Amino acid sequence: MNLCSIFNSLLVSLLWLSSFCAVHGTQDQNYAQEILSAAQKDKNWLVSIRRQIHENPELGFQEHNTSALLRRELDQLGISYSYPIAKTGIVAQIGSGSGPVVALRADMDALPLQELVDWEHKSKIDGKMHGCGHDAHTTMLLGAAKLLSQRKEKLQGTVRLIFQPAEEGGAGAAEMIKEGALGESEAIFGMHIDYVIPTGSISSIAGPQLAAVCFFEAKIVGLGGHAAAPHITADPILAASFAILALQQLVSRETDPLQSHVLSVTYVRGGSASNVIPSYVEFGGTLRSLTTEGLYQLRRRLKEVIEGQAAVHRCIAYIDMKEEDFPPYPAVFNDESLNTHVKRVGKLVLGPENVKIGKKVMAGEDFAFYQELIPGIMISIGIRNEEVGSVHSPHSPYFFLDEDVLPVGAALHTALAEIYLNEHQRSAIQ
Ligand SMILES: [Zn+2]
Ligand SMILES: [Zn+2]
Repeated sequence: MNLCSIFNSLLVSLLWLSSFCAVHGTQDQNYAQEILSAAQKDKNWLVSIRRQIHENPELGFQEHNTSALLRRELDQLGISYSYPIAKTGIVAQIGSGSGPVVALRADMDALPLQELVDWEHKSKIDGKMHGCGHDAHTTMLLGAAKLLSQRKEKLQGTVRLIFQPAEEGGAGAAEMIKEGALGESEAIFGMHIDYVIPTGSISSIAGPQLAAVCFFEAKIVGLGGHAAAPHITADPILAASFAILALQQLVSRETDPLQSHVLSVTYVRGGSASNVIPSYVEFGGTLRSLTTEGLYQLRRRLKEVIEGQAAVHRCIAYIDMKEEDFPPYPAVFNDESLNTHVKRVGKLVLGPENVKIGKKVMAGEDFAFYQELIPGIMISIGIRNEEVGSVHSPHSPYFFLDEDVLPVGAALHTALAEIYLNEHQRSAIQ
């Protein structure tokens, strides 16, 4: 073969490759366009569902009306589901019924918070508010259920849509898992709204993203008495003061400076008169770490430090990790290959400029319970829009949602699951 024919054959191969990529690329773009425009057509429906949920917020494990609304919609769409799971939870299933199986997750609970935004569809229930966007998460997943069911003949496997209760402290995810919500799922995607990045964009990050979290309350019991005779008392105020100061050393002196930990004492209660040493003092707060092991180490040392400081001051400490009300959450750790998938699908559906690198935050998420069992990723989906005023952080009484996010999230959930199934056929055969 002479040099000229080598060049010729190379040119032919390159042309073939570029035309193949062009066709493939166009197909991908057509696919993204198809999903996005189908989701946009559903926008009015999505907005009305979200407003119904927003007006009627329900706290963890009490999401009865929210769950009933979802079941009515799933019935109308002809989508089969299991209910009840963890009291109010639902798992819908769409596709071939065989593997691979991929899970999408939304949380349904509201916060014990008074909404201070004055708008037509504000919360109708005093002291309760969807201030963390879970009404949007639920609606976006219902939107995906509709889109996926329209495409069910094309699905190369099964999608499980998990609507869970009680993310805000109740560890609803752990209860869902106990009752079999994950089934045969091999990967799971979750989304949380993010007020920092604009509507139409997402961010994600591989590895640790959100903290392992727990809460504690300490009671230091001494011997109360007259403030003029401290020598015949055992002063719990002094013991608590030393204990709180000593706790600060756990992060500053005992933690690797390159690791992220938080120990915050958020309240102290003790005494009521200026001439009486009280018999006990209570204080409490929260512990956080970007690793689950880090949290357990911090918990151990918290107990030792408080008990030790109480003993030094002739008092006794009782520590309650409040696990009944707030089970400890593991850290959210995002799978690297799922992150690559999110970036690729995100760029396809939203455009490369709208896919950003996520940030680590010391807030917690019970999505971490799913990730203890199967690879998963939590995606931040932007809602920031100065024009509608969606610029307040979650858990603020002024939190406000840009409803334009609803079709975006529905389309993204759909594409993440459908493309995942297309690309993981091997695991079904094995
Ligand atoms: Zn929240
Ligand atoms: Zn939330």
